[in-house]
Amino acid sequence: MFPISVGLLLLAGMAVFAYTINNRFGLLRVTEGKDERWKQIPARIMGMLVFAFGQKRMVSTPKDFWAGLWHAFIFWGFCVISIRTIMLFGMGFDPHFVFPGFGGWLGQFYNLNKDLFTILVFVACCFFLGRRFFTKPDRISLSIEGIVILFTIMSLMVTDWFFDGGQILLGHESLPELYAPAGYATARVIEWFGWSPQTIGVVSNTSYFLHLALILGFLNFLPYGKHFHIITAIPNVFMRNLKPYGALNPINLEDENATTFGIDKIKEFNWKDVLDMYTCTECGRCTSQCPAYNSNKPLNPKAFLMELKDYFYDNAEAINDGNAEAKAAVLDKPLVPEIIDSEILWSCTTCRACEEACPVFIEYVQKIVDMRRHLVLMRGEFPVEAQTTLRNIENNGNPWGIGFDERAVWAKELGVPSLSEKPEVDVLYWVGCAGSFDDRNKKVSTSLVKILQEAGIEFAILGPEETCSGDPARRIGNEYLFQTLAKQNIETMGKYKFKTVLAQCPHCFNTIKNEYPQFGGNFEVVHHADYIKKLIDDGKIKPVKNLDEKLTYHDSCYLGRYNKIYDSPRDILKAIPGVEYADVEKSREQGRCCGAGGGRMWMEEHIGDRVNHQRLEDLQEAKPQTVASACPFCMTMITDAARDKEVQVNTKDIAELVADSL
Ligand code: SF4
Ligand code: SF4
Repeated sequence: MFPISVGLLLLAGMAVFAYTINNRFGLLRVTEGKDERWKQIPARIMGMLVFAFGQKRMVSTPKDFWAGLWHAFIFWGFCVISIRTIMLFGMGFDPHFVFPGFGGWLGQFYNLNKDLFTILVFVACCFFLGRRFFTKPDRISLSIEGIVILFTIMSLMVTDWFFDGGQILLGHESLPELYAPAGYATARVIEWFGWSPQTIGVVSNTSYFLHLALILGFLNFLPYGKHFHIITAIPNVFMRNLKPYGALNPINLEDENATTFGIDKIKEFNWKDVLDMYTCTECGRCTSQCPAYNSNKPLNPKAFLMELKDYFYDNAEAINDGNAEAKAAVLDKPLVPEIIDSEILWSCTTCRACEEACPVFIEYVQKIVDMRRHLVLMRGEFPVEAQTTLRNIENNGNPWGIGFDERAVWAKELGVPSLSEKPEVDVLYWVGCAGSFDDRNKKVSTSLVKILQEAGIEFAILGPEETCSGDPARRIGNEYLFQTLAKQNIETMGKYKFKTVLAQCPHCFNTIKNEYPQFGGNFEVVHHADYIKKLIDDGKIKPVKNLDEKLTYHDSCYLGRYNKIYDSPRDILKAIPGVEYADVEKSREQGRCCGAGGGRMWMEEHIGDRVNHQRLEDLQEAKPQTVASACPFCMTMITDAARDKEVQVNTKDIAELVADSL
């Protein structure tokens, strides 16, 4: 049709695109961090099909369902219409060009779908323009870029219709009306205008060239803004983290060549971190779920990522084309405090609500902990309360700093053996620091012992040989202390024979299950929520006493979002006679953190509102007499909130409720 014009247009568009993409790749290449994401290819492909092509996360949050569904229509529309785009370029060289097999029914079927999707995409763009101009949800950035992109997409659909409509009227298109509804509808509109065949030819050809020019312009515009995700989202989902969410990457502290630990310079991130920065759609789902942001702390996960991306983009020229000095000035500049304030890092509770909400699997916790690691290990800069906590753990193996030899005092009267007395048992009951030293949580330990004894389980504890699992040390950023504790515990556990580790605390559970394997500690680890559920299911215990209580349950982040244990605690509560159970809206994947994770349990909340107060307000929605939980930190935070706000509500662990009912 127009081989020279289309050829030149294509060549120019693709040349500029190749140049831009090469520059963006340049920023990926300067990173020094390592990350291996090429294993488990079948699982990666499956995830890509479900989450990228299936758009699962876009439609999984009830409050964002419609926005997610319309976004999914645009995505699916692009997938379908891109086949047509290639054919349009082909028609520039051969007016009858179609893909092999598209000459018959397959082509007709495709064209019908293409036309329907152009209509859906157009309507979806109207929906999103309406949100930008009228409803304006808090979480989205109302940028000009978004509006330009929406009008560009709509123009692509309209030019496609006018090209088709003109071709139908000029007799160049022979598809039956049934298979080209948008094209025939546009033909009717053109007929209504009463244009001459020459004018129709000009309109159709202009639409054709405009369509191709818009496509190439769109392609070249994408890498400069947030819509780069149209190109990077599928690879980013493919490369998503397939390790257990609760396993932070270890640092090789024995690396003699290492000159620094953690991350403090932009170049110390890895290529996947930069791909995350490219992929953020700025939808704000992460921020809307973030307990730190929602309690007016300085942390806004989306903005944190954008700051890092903007630093890269603003300095792209120096990185890609600058001399060695200019490049080093950018790449070696400390990020804290100039680009990222340290308070941003210390505000994070590592709850993973941001990661769970992100439709394109952007990772935050590892980046934040890596930056904390640098502050702790290299600069010795961290909140003063955290310093006390870490010192207590170093000296006595628990954050309270109570003598390590008092760890098993709570169990004295209960007839609980230690492994040093009974070196071979079925179950090693890992009590944890809270269950051993905190008066309120010792009652949970006592209840769990009652359950185990009732079920006839052969178990023992480590007693004074147990030390902190290392979770707070690792999340605060003291990897050295964490590794020391982990190795010590693994060595101690290795001396004895047991089948299962039963953990009472989700933080211990997560660390022993998901992080100890990094140091050779491979154990079968169960949290007491799953364990008690199985005891009930197997008929080994039977809650019989009527508790007559109205309950709701607070999800611990490290049990729920980290380890997907949502049902067992609820099933246990529902199995207790007389319990009236109700969930609150913010529960399960969307549950709000209590504020204690990531070492925040041991730090003061100097800024903004208290996260635990907000969480208690969420839970009051169910008007409970008792808030049940399965984590010592959560129970402490909710108990404190109830006391501060003078709310009459009991707080109990699921083990206590079951023990009360036996
Ligand atoms: S992990 Fe939790 S606190 Fe940290 S940025 Fe994400 S949502 Fe916010
Ligand atoms: S990180 Fe994910 S959830 Fe947050 S704004 Fe970016 S794309 Fe949206």
